[in-house]
Formats: sequence, C-alpha cells, structure tokens
Amino acid sequence: MKLLRVGSKGKEIPAILDGEGRPRDVSAIVPDFSPETLSFQLLDRLRQADSATLPLLPAEARIGAPLSRTGHFIAIGLNYADHAAEGNVQPPPEPIIFTKAPNCLSGPNDPIPLPRGSERSDWEVELAVIIGERCYEVAEADALSKVFGYAVCNDVSERHFQMERAGQWLKGKSSPGFGPLGPWIVTADEIADPQHLPLFLELNGERMQDGNTAEMIFSVAYLIAYASRFFALEPGDIITTGTPAGVGMGKKPPRYLKAGDQLQLGVSGLGEQRQTIVATATGK
Ligand code: ZN
Repeated sequence: MKLLRVGSKGKEIPAILDGEGRPRDVSAIVPDFSPETLSFQLLDRLRQADSATLPLLPAEARIGAPLSRTGHFIAIGLNYADHAAEGNVQPPPEPIIFTKAPNCLSGPNDPIPLPRGSERSDWEVELAVIIGERCYEVAEADALSKVFGYAVCNDVSERHFQMERAGQWLKGKSSPGFGPLGPWIVTADEIADPQHLPLFLELNGERMQDGNTAEMIFSVAYLIAYASRFFALEPGDIITTGTPAGVGMGKKPPRYLKAGDQLQLGVSGLGEQRQTIVATATGK
C-alpha cells in the first residue's frame, strides 16, 4: 500500500493510491498520517477499506510530505563506502547518527529554498525508513518488523553550515525545505529486500548519483537495532540511511546548487521527486 498526503501546505488530506495509481481520500478512516495515528493497526484498517468506494482526489494536486510531522528525523552519515571515499574520509567503524530538524520535512516536489548566505548547498538521494512501532534495544533480527514503510528522501545539505560552523551537522541539514520526503510511504510488505534498491539523482537532467542500497555499509536492520540501543524509536520516526557517491561536494571541481536548478531523484519501487532550487529562504 502507498500512503500519501494531498493538498496545499498545512491542509493535506491523507490518501492511499488505488489499483490504478489514483489518490483516494481516507480521512473518514484516519484524520491524518502522523506519529499519533501511524501504526500497524491503522494499516489493517486501511487494508479492509474498499478503495473503490473512497473519494477520488485530484490527480494534479500538490503532494505533501507523507507525514504531517515527525518526532525524530534521524540521518546516517557516510553509510556508503564510495561516498566516504569521495569526501576523503575513512568509512566509519560505527554508524554516524545525526539529526535533521523535524520541521524541515517537506513535500517531495516542493521548491527548495537556499538558506541566506548559502554557497555550498548539496543534494543526497537516500532510502528513508519510517518506523511503525515503538522500539528500544530491538534485536537486529527483529528490527525490520518495526518498519512501517519506506520512502525517498533528499537529505539536502549546506556543506559550509554542516562542516565549518563548529559542532553538529544539524546546522547544515535543517533549513526549511531541506527534508523532502515521498511522494509516498510504500509499506514494508511491498519491499521484498530494502538492501537491493537502485537509487539515482539527476541535476538539470545530468546523472549525478547512481547507486544501490546493496552498497550500504550498515544495513537498515542493523541501523535500527544500533540506534535503538541509544534512544527509543517511535511511530512516525524517520531514519534516512545515507547517500551513495555523486554529491556536489565530491565533484572535481565541487558543484553546488543555485537558484533555478532542477533535481530529479528516486529509489526503485518508491517513486520519484522533482525539486526546483529557489533563492534565499524567508524563514517562513
Ligand atoms: Zn545524508
């Protein structure tokens, strides 16, 4: 099943895609997709609904982030060896966990505003995992049973803010619009193996990233188990699992985003995103 939210910003309606790929309004079943409502029980209720009887939503409407908000927006650094190599750093001995501000979550095709003063904003196509059930100290063997679903994420990054402004990476990972997620959450039952998914990103039609989740250093199951040793994961938490080689920082010479640039990115089976880069964020 594919879960999405359709409508203008702040007024999205929860929906599922029907057999013909059309969004169907499920607001009679659940008020919204959020940390409060996301659960495997909700999924059972959605499965029991007869999608043909649910109201159709306009196919051309904006798609929002598939969750109204998230508690944790966690990201994994340097989880592909080729990406670590392009940054001239050693693969990490343990997962690098950092956070993105939860409110940078945005729609998959929303414009991405460059933060004021940004000269080194960059792209990162990633497989994101959405947690469906609270877990703390979960075993690696049980970890995938806690996954509600998967989605495409662009872990947009301002490298100067991230790496040269002291302290944590959060500074470069969290500007408004730096967390496009979606177009939808694909439930875990539809993804036979999260470690065999091709993923790509194009800048202005030119292929920049071409990877496969098989190349991750630490698997999805390992990352969930590992993170849950340190903090509890809750329904609706997002873990975006790292990016393969091909980011702007790794190009020779480096290449960064500017207003008017177009990004297109996707993960096999999870859909695609398209974003336009726009000038200075207003902070609104
Ligand atoms: Zn990343």
